[in-house]
Amino acid sequence: MSIRIQNWGRSLDFNADQVLYPASEDEILTILSNATFNRKTVRIIGSGHSWTNLIVTSDILVSLDRWQGITEVDPGGKWVEVKSGTKLLKLGNDLWSMGFAMENLGDIDVQSIAGALNTGTHGTGKDFGTLATQIHAITIALPTGELIEVSETQNHDLFKAGQISLGALGIITRYKLKVVKAFNLEYISKLGKIRDAIDNFDKYNNEYRNYEFYWFPYTEEVQLKLVNETVKPIKDGGFMRDFDDIVIENMGYFALSEWSRTHKKFYKPFSKFSARGVPKGTWRNHSNKIFATKRWVRFKEMEYNVAKDKFQECITEIIETIHKRDFRVHMPLEVRYVKADDIMISPASGRDAVYMAVHQYNGMDYQEYFRTIEEIFWKYDGRPHFGKMNTMKKEQFIQTYPNWTQFSRIQHECDPKGIMLNDYLKSIF
Ligand SMILES: Cc1cc2nc3c(=O)[nH]c(=O)nc-3n(C[C@H](O)[C@H](O)[C@H](O)COP(=O)(O)OP(=O)(O)OC[C@H]3O[C@@H](n4cnc5c(N)ncnc54)[C@H](O)[C@@H]3O)c2cc1C
Repeated sequence: MSIRIQNWGRSLDFNADQVLYPASEDEILTILSNATFNRKTVRIIGSGHSWTNLIVTSDILVSLDRWQGITEVDPGGKWVEVKSGTKLLKLGNDLWSMGFAMENLGDIDVQSIAGALNTGTHGTGKDFGTLATQIHAITIALPTGELIEVSETQNHDLFKAGQISLGALGIITRYKLKVVKAFNLEYISKLGKIRDAIDNFDKYNNEYRNYEFYWFPYTEEVQLKLVNETVKPIKDGGFMRDFDDIVIENMGYFALSEWSRTHKKFYKPFSKFSARGVPKGTWRNHSNKIFATKRWVRFKEMEYNVAKDKFQECITEIIETIHKRDFRVHMPLEVRYVKADDIMISPASGRDAVYMAVHQYNGMDYQEYFRTIEEIFWKYDGRPHFGKMNTMKKEQFIQTYPNWTQFSRIQHECDPKGIMLNDYLKSIF
């Protein structure tokens, strides 16, 4: 009997013949060799938080939920080795109890570490690359039957391909992750103006370790999120912060989003209302707790980055287009900064990048909105987040990612029978 799978964003709904939960590397290698023998397609699911067709298969879906935890700590304290199915929430807590932390994170902590790394998940901050830049070494089970460890100094090209691989090379079983000493962060949230957020982008990035903003369509308003390291005492707001997070931000937002979905003219007042309701305050806590937010309201998301020197022109065109076309949207546009890296198919490869993400509440039309904004991103040589909705074709990937062809060649070498490729991955590699 086949098993129905849906992702978090409800953009995917498919049936897999089998969902397997290996608990050892031997079991993982056996899955790959059986699939090769029986000519089955294998895909791996982390937490199903990507919107794109990466995890889709009608054959075998592998979940590493039974393969979690820290396995080794570098005696010098520079890295820890972690099983690839470990969820970020658990990883953050386990690291904290050992006096470590990851230097930077995105804005949720429910993904598996392999799921997050493999799509180029990122946070924000001019000194930080995608999370995959924090990888020190990777152990990967290849469809050819080998289990090998790769790093900057061992099998360099496969390491650079494996850092962000969309699960197309094999099943990654372990990561050695670079870690830093545990630290606390102070987070300030306040209302600002869109022109200031854009014009003073460099200034904010210089003053704050992690700077991002959310612009509310049909307003001049943004939520500024300003984060720096702190040694001041923890101030997390306790029950009231949870209450705000869960009841006001998520449940209130859900109720009003439903209203917006069913009442055609409500999107502009709601966007203005959301801007006014931006949480204002200062919180201090362990770094992993400050980075993570709760997301209970389901939406579709498309995110692209452009080279930093094209950001101001690109975002100005997006804002003007939303206003001119009067898209029915109340959810904000999010803007973050990611440092250039040298990962083979990283969206930030070779350029400091500004990521811009558009959101649409589930159940409201997103196609025309996303298509129009995507064409603007293409005009500015935009590169999509692999986990978020996009319609890029192979030729465009080749044009926009300098090492796409090299990655495709490595993919074919690692997986000569193509068992890791579903229809979507076949179409882009
Ligand atoms: C509410 C929400 C908030 C988000 N916030 C951010 C954010 O702040 N920043 C950001 O950049 N992104 C963000 N994302 C996107 C998200 O981080 C990525 O889509 C991420 O890939 C999801 O991780 P996952 O564990 O759910 O992986 P999945 O979506 O299940 O899988 C992602 C990819 O990883 C592969 N994979 C998983 N495990 C392995 C393995 N062991 N070996 C090889 N391949 C593997 C899968 O096959 C697939 O190709 C957000 C998504 C949501 C829904």
